[in-house]
Amino acid sequence: MAHPAPQALRSPLQRALSLLRPSPVSERTPIARGADASSAHARGIELADRAPDREARQHPEGFICLESVSKVYPGRHGGPAVAALDGVDLSVARGEIVGVIGRSGAGKSTLIRLVNGLEKPTSGRVVVDGIDVGALDERALGPARRSIGMIFQHFNLLSSRTVFDNVALPLEILGADRAGIRRRVEPLLDMVGLADKRDRYPAELSGGQKQRVGIARALATEPKVLLSDEATSALDPETTASILDLLAGIQRELGLTILMITHEMAVIRRIAHRVAVIDGGRIVEQGEVADVFAAPAHATTRSFLGAETGRSVPAWIAERLQQAPVEGGKAVLRIVFRGEHATDPVLSQLSRELGIDVNILSGSIERIAGQPFGILLVALPGGAEALARATGFLADRELHTEVIGHVR
Ligand code: ADP
Repeated sequence: MAHPAPQALRSPLQRALSLLRPSPVSERTPIARGADASSAHARGIELADRAPDREARQHPEGFICLESVSKVYPGRHGGPAVAALDGVDLSVARGEIVGVIGRSGAGKSTLIRLVNGLEKPTSGRVVVDGIDVGALDERALGPARRSIGMIFQHFNLLSSRTVFDNVALPLEILGADRAGIRRRVEPLLDMVGLADKRDRYPAELSGGQKQRVGIARALATEPKVLLSDEATSALDPETTASILDLLAGIQRELGLTILMITHEMAVIRRIAHRVAVIDGGRIVEQGEVADVFAAPAHATTRSFLGAETGRSVPAWIAERLQQAPVEGGKAVLRIVFRGEHATDPVLSQLSRELGIDVNILSGSIERIAGQPFGILLVALPGGAEALARATGFLADRELHTEVIGHVR
């Protein structure tokens, strides 16, 4: 593969990633002592293939696949058994970022522990890169786990080891020699922006820096899959954003497949391609992030969306809203603008072409899953005929609309 010349690379992240990108197998530097490239391959420690385009993601072949998975824990202290997961189907395509969102106790940790083989399903199958993880015994799980990196809410760094030695640890366990470890760890530290902190100890780092070490360590064995267990929940919003942007950049460049669990919609919105909402051990809704944000079908999803993306109705409107049409009043519509339509002058066209007055009540435009996404609340004449013409006009332009009530 032709790599760009160093001067053409725009950022430290891109420079570091260029060192970490996969090279043809014959050129790869073995990591484990005495291992040749093909045995490294066999041990599942090569870098992932590059990310697929959107088209490929829409036809997922299921790089991570949960098929009718249930997990029942025996009751504690003689109590009843707990069904933590109940008939879960979830498929994550190669190179995709999927977020699983749910409240505490919904079954998120159980789901992620099944994917990395820490738990076995009570029924159903958990398949990662063609391997039935749930059917592996402890010895066979070792190599499978090396192709799965994991990052945690509380970072799980060893306080007695420096930044460099924390990242090196998984390679030491694999038996890599010092030179091989240096060749791998140094570009990883560059990539996460911590080259100057290599000899510091975790206690000397901020939360965001600790998570950067966690990310570098998770990538040390060149995994194909990265699992994120509430990785930004202990961080402030600004640090969360920078960590998520780092993960998104790494995912794009290395083509990693990322499965993340979280209880924050803001995390999903910033980097996930698809989202699955879990409640009481069941997936109650899943889809492309922008689709779910545009038209959440399940009450749990709507409660997670809450004030995200201008969905909440401002109090001054909510107080006046009535369910039934009001004689001589107006209908209040929520209109979702997405992707290429987000910046179209649709409302002025509607006004001009249909002769209908539109009052804008509230609105916002932001980015979701990398696409412009806007929600407007507008008031239109509430008569049935005018309303039908207006909603038909908007539907023709593939805008999602919903009459949320009527006002005087
Ligand atoms: P979440 O990560 O969404 O908070 P968990 O997967 O941790 O949810 O838990 C789901 C349910 O399973 C909860 O009711 C929890 O109490 C129960 N549970 C989790 N782990 C165990 C376990 N090892 N033994 C018994 N019950 C468990």
